Amino acid sequence: MAVHLDINLIVVARDVFTPAELKQVDDSVDIMKAIFATHGPVIGTVNRFHIDARVAGVDAILLGAGDAMALADRFAVSSNDALDVFVVKRIFHPKDVGYSPVPGACGKKTVKGRLRAPVVSIAGSTADSGNTFAHEVGHFLGLPHCEKDESLCGPANFMRAASGTNTGVTPAQAVTMIRHCQVTL
Ligand SMILES: [Zn+2]
Repeated sequence: MAVHLDINLIVVARDVFTPAELKQVDDSVDIMKAIFATHGPVIGTVNRFHIDARVAGVDAILLGAGDAMALADRFAVSSNDALDVFVVKRIFHPKDVGYSPVPGACGKKTVKGRLRAPVVSIAGSTADSGNTFAHEVGHFLGLPHCEKDESLCGPANFMRAASGTNTGVTPAQAVTMIRHCQVTL
């Protein structure tokens, strides 16, 4: 297989998503795949998990980055080494639609006291949330916002902090991400 990144897609409180919202999750994964497919690393296997609302309890309600950290710590997938990506319906914060460490660390149980995996919401349109999924995974693999390093981005790019658009990975971004320990050759 090409240089790739395997993912565990963990839908939090999946039983309270409407069919339309579940479709938005799947379509967002497809948009993320399309963004990464331009120059790689490509999204490889997507393993699917879900957590019922009654099991997640208050951990499904995210008010900010601290709650995302608690969620990611509690529900780490221990059966494989793929990147955990948590999906929630919404984040109850006026500005935030997702969180990720920049870059994230490999080895699930080694990260203590900080966010260990991307946590994304399906806020906005499907185009918006597809961009959010790719954006936060990009952060995990070491990509900064374009505003921090314009040399990595084109004029429109999914790593712009403000209004991201669904443009693909640039060659410079691919080179950065391929070096990350979570990416498999
Ligand atoms: Zn960002």
